[in-house]
Amino acid sequence: MPFWSTPKTSLNQRLRLGLGAMLVPLLMLATGAIISFEGALGSFDKHDNLGREALFPLAEVEGLFLDLNVVASPVGPSRPMTWDKYQEKSQAITNSLERLLEFSHHDPHQFNSVLEIQRKWQRISQLCKQLLDPSISESGNTQSTRVELQDQLRMILQDVQQLNYRLIVFQNDANTNQAKAVRKEVRQLIAMICGLALALAIVFAYGLSRSITVPLQTLEEGVEKLGKGELSHRIALASGDELSHLAETFNLMATKLEQSQKDLYRLATLDGLTEVYNRREFNRWLRVEVEKSQRNTDQVSLIMVDIDHFKQLNDTFGHQAGDLALCEVAQLLQREVRPGDIVCRYGGEEFAVILPKTNSDDSVAIADRIRLAIAEETVILPSLQQVEMTASLGVATFPADAQTKEHLIKQADQALYGAKTSGRNRVHQAQQNVLENKVVV
Ligand code: GH3
Ligand code: MG
Ligand code: MG
Repeated sequence: MPFWSTPKTSLNQRLRLGLGAMLVPLLMLATGAIISFEGALGSFDKHDNLGREALFPLAEVEGLFLDLNVVASPVGPSRPMTWDKYQEKSQAITNSLERLLEFSHHDPHQFNSVLEIQRKWQRISQLCKQLLDPSISESGNTQSTRVELQDQLRMILQDVQQLNYRLIVFQNDANTNQAKAVRKEVRQLIAMICGLALALAIVFAYGLSRSITVPLQTLEEGVEKLGKGELSHRIALASGDELSHLAETFNLMATKLEQSQKDLYRLATLDGLTEVYNRREFNRWLRVEVEKSQRNTDQVSLIMVDIDHFKQLNDTFGHQAGDLALCEVAQLLQREVRPGDIVCRYGGEEFAVILPKTNSDDSVAIADRIRLAIAEETVILPSLQQVEMTASLGVATFPADAQTKEHLIKQADQALYGAKTSGRNRVHQAQQNVLENKVVV
């Protein structure tokens, strides 16, 4: 069973749940965006640190080399830089150059530049030592040493500036590459999260819409069937929500309508006292069977039954006893005929039996069987009095005795009249009447 039809939740709850679930993709998007943003900024921080590791020592070294210019200047009243001071700076320069060398090992070009600076620095430190170390007596040509130191400092500062420029370019290139990489990474991440969020949103939206459209469709189909008059149809909706409640109401309405329709049908077609077909239904059934007979060249017979001296029965035992007797005869008729035969109350104490696909001989036999059954039947009244009856029957067959429905009724009626006039409690057949009439003539 799909998940949208399992929970017995109301539409209201499902809508709230579904719309709440739709927020999940939005939250995913927001979280993904924050994570990507943080990741991108973090990677730039890392590169900035690398930049500082290289550029700061270089700037420091440049400043220290500039400080050494005073060593190359002619000697004033007092020494511009003491040996101790120089040693501090020398140590700082050596440390910074080592850090620079360490940082530059990944780039051979930079590495060589730093090595070149280190090489020049060794020469400068030799020259400075000659000029500043108090343990070395000022022998030799200090002027030429200073000149060489000046030259060496100028050259090393040029190298430092070039390296500085290279490092800045390197830093920019690294930043640009890093930005490209981060952009690509973030784009992929956002695309992935968007795809996932979209898929989730589609699944939630689909589930939500199915949870409403599926029962709505069942309801719509059911209502359409009921509307077309299929009152036996019931809408099968067990979702336990507002729609299934609506379906239950429709089902209840259909049950009541079906019952009303049955009641109306009974009222319109059955006789209120005996519950066999009434006169209107008799006419309809006879027309149907005569038409069928015309189409299929079958025969259809009609038996008219009239209880003998019924007025007398009423007068002797009362009207209610008469009603009871009529009901007994109706039941007896239904018992005595086949399932396809049609028993009707023609009026008063007269009944009519339509016998489809039955010829004259068979219908006379059936009529006589009915006559005998009525004669043998004893109606026991509530007062325990016993009432016995007889009936006269007229039989006519279509198309042997008549060419139309009306003519068939007339022929059966005349046969019945014949049975009455001949002494009652007997069966007369339409042809017999004709013969008898001929005899009389
Ligand atoms: P016959 O042998 O010639 O048919 O005589 P009959 O008395 O049966 O015929 P008649 O036409 O003289 O009387 C029919 C009686 O049937 C009169 C009427 O009061 C009675 N009757 C008609 N419908 C009903 C009914 O629904 N209930 C009762 N109890 N009697 C009815
Ligand atoms: Mg009568
Ligand atoms: Mg009668």
